[in-house]
Amino acid sequence: MTTIVPFLDLAAQQAEIAAEVLPVWERQLASAGFIGGPEVDAFEREYADYIGVRHVVGVSNGTDALELAYRAVGIEPGDEVIIPANTFIATAEAVSRIGAIPVPVDVDDEFLLLDPDAVEAAITSRTHAIVPVHLFGQTAPVERIAPIAEKYGLVVIEDAAQSQGATSGAGRAGALSRVAATSFYPGKNLGAAGDAGAVMTDDAEVAALVRNLGGHGSSVKYVHDHVGMNARLDAVQATVLRAKLRRLDGWNAARRAAADRYADLLKDVAGVRTPSVRPGNQDVWHLYVVRVAERDRVMAELGAAGIGVGIHYPTPVHLTQAYASLGYRRGQFPIAEAAADSILSLPMFPHLTEAQQDAVADALRAAVGEDKR
Ligand SMILES: *Cc1c(COP(=O)(O)O)cnc(C)c1O
Repeated sequence: MTTIVPFLDLAAQQAEIAAEVLPVWERQLASAGFIGGPEVDAFEREYADYIGVRHVVGVSNGTDALELAYRAVGIEPGDEVIIPANTFIATAEAVSRIGAIPVPVDVDDEFLLLDPDAVEAAITSRTHAIVPVHLFGQTAPVERIAPIAEKYGLVVIEDAAQSQGATSGAGRAGALSRVAATSFYPGKNLGAAGDAGAVMTDDAEVAALVRNLGGHGSSVKYVHDHVGMNARLDAVQATVLRAKLRRLDGWNAARRAAADRYADLLKDVAGVRTPSVRPGNQDVWHLYVVRVAERDRVMAELGAAGIGVGIHYPTPVHLTQAYASLGYRRGQFPIAEAAADSILSLPMFPHLTEAQQDAVADALRAAVGEDKR
């Protein structure tokens, strides 16, 4: 089977930045300055300015960024941390890695984001934090979650891995809570040439603790204040991230144009539910997620037609084998569970062409049983 439209094509992104990145990489190779250094410092400054926070600490990946953010606000073994049932597993994994307990709750049906009412119902005396995940390039309703956190004395930590550049009325994703974590995995809106991530905060003490914990619990060489980890950002990644950050707004605008075009192409297709944008938000369309009946059959037909698609995510956190020990059952989070059976992510990346989108829409229309227009 030949691929007509790939799910994700990053080659054009690398081509745009190669001439900028390669000379810096050559200097890094020659000087052996691989970890930290001036490119990392510059990226941290530039990303802080872009997001609108005082401090960015570049780290090794998004999962480590979450773990460091959780630890830096004092989450301890046995604490409960409320997360959406529909998220990438890393949101939960990082909780578990510090011996705390992820508490999944249901999402809302329209946007598939953390449901504030479900959050409030899940709070116990052991709850320490709430993690809104800015899923698919949207911003989660932090403006409704923050007052709940305030009422119960809890910390809010954004998982901003899928939302670089997204804004709500209150600011950019990553600047809406005490501390936020993001991932620069290559396929994210801002992607490195390997694994990378960052922690964002206005709080100088939190930033210093993240930097300390991520560097073996040490701020002065061989003086170890905490049992930390090795979670530093490499200079080669910072070089790529600086070059891509300059292009991020343009690339996000291209994603928005593609999302508008999908909405238009699919608006009369009865069997396809297209995504909507939360009022006051600017979505950066990390993923374009439609909902269809008989998703697995539709997905297979698109695959056979050469259209790359994905599911984000096929199993809600509480039903994964990894979290079987938490003791949840099917039926507890009906919206997340129903979504997992109907969601389908269509090809979405900045360099997606109109011809590619037409091919996707035609194949999808055929798969759900509607003739081409
Ligand atoms: C990608 C992602 C992460 C983890 O990032 P890695 O860099 O792969 O460790 C965490 N949360 C969400 C929502 C993600 O999409």
